[in-house]
Amino acid sequence: MYTTANQRSKSGQRIVDLRSDTVTWPTEAMRRAMYEAEVGDDCYGEDPTVNRLQQVAAEKLGKEAGLFVASGTMGNLCAVLAHTQPGQEVILGDESHTFLWEVGGISRIGGCVTHIVPFHDGFLDPEEVERAIRPTDDIHAAHTGLICVENTCNRGGGTIIPPDHLERLAAVARRHGIPIHMDGARIFNAAVGLSIDVRELACHVDSVMFCLSKGLSAPVGSVLVGSREFIARANQARKLLGGGMRQAGVLAAAGLVALEEGVARLHEDHANARRLAEGIATKVPEAVNLRQVQTNMVMVNTRPLGWTGQEFAERMAQVGILFFPVDPYRVRLVTHRMVSAADIDYTLAMFDQVLATREK
Ligand SMILES: *Cc1c(COP(=O)(O)O)cnc(C)c1O
Repeated sequence: MYTTANQRSKSGQRIVDLRSDTVTWPTEAMRRAMYEAEVGDDCYGEDPTVNRLQQVAAEKLGKEAGLFVASGTMGNLCAVLAHTQPGQEVILGDESHTFLWEVGGISRIGGCVTHIVPFHDGFLDPEEVERAIRPTDDIHAAHTGLICVENTCNRGGGTIIPPDHLERLAAVARRHGIPIHMDGARIFNAAVGLSIDVRELACHVDSVMFCLSKGLSAPVGSVLVGSREFIARANQARKLLGGGMRQAGVLAAAGLVALEEGVARLHEDHANARRLAEGIATKVPEAVNLRQVQTNMVMVNTRPLGWTGQEFAERMAQVGILFFPVDPYRVRLVTHRMVSAADIDYTLAMFDQVLATREK
């Protein structure tokens, strides 16, 4: 019922939805927790369930405080608003989600200049970041107010930025007295992928945003964590953005379940992504880079298939396998709780069928 692994379209066609882990529905345990949630007015700080989620999230990431927000986009923007002043620069990757897909909120609402540096499969080069930092003694320069990193890296294909690399970025930031924010929409995938505590990733940055509504399967919400003082400023930013919710405990209750049962099963998504990638590689070795399959995503290069990403996605959609092109010749397949190992095998069978239709 609520958690069907195999979905079907109205016509009865079997559907495997690999578009994103955001398509996951809340579990039975979440719906029960939502029904039973204790609530209060969260704008007065009186919702006990929201308070508990914020506290649990902060503890899990090793930070002082947390803030429940409506979405990852809102969490990242609250972080920018809380860390920076209008007229400053924010350094971030040229393929980062925040730069590409968050409606330019940094500039439009934060009043900051985006200073992009190359994303090397999701990695920011600490030297390039250091070179991008603007001089504070020059009247011509907008001063650097924030550095953003993304982990796991979406356009890198769910790649993990490990602690030693974060440490090198943090050293640059410290040297210049600039805070670092982590867009950790899938930070728990990174921690699970490395088999480390998520604190080992979070300790190198000043703030982290993570999503409850992606692989963790909650219906709504993200959490921003950081110092108590930072979260107080972020709370005002959230209000400014219209994100001051009232009896939000009904949503936070699902988030609390997500932090337990969701994190505990992420390794299954990673195993399914690997199964999918290896299956594709067996048929068309050049189509996937297995080294980059580290969490719950598989990027497929469609050039060796002789199709554009769009053409390949359309052909697979006709047989019920859904995913998006992310580049002219690249598609992204995402595994999640509602995709089983059997669905992966079915996907590979459909891949075979579609490949067989290619003109030789
Ligand atoms: C999904 C995502 C976000 C934004 O989350 P929404 O809840 O969709 O606003 C931010 N960063 C990354 C890397 C994401 O994948």
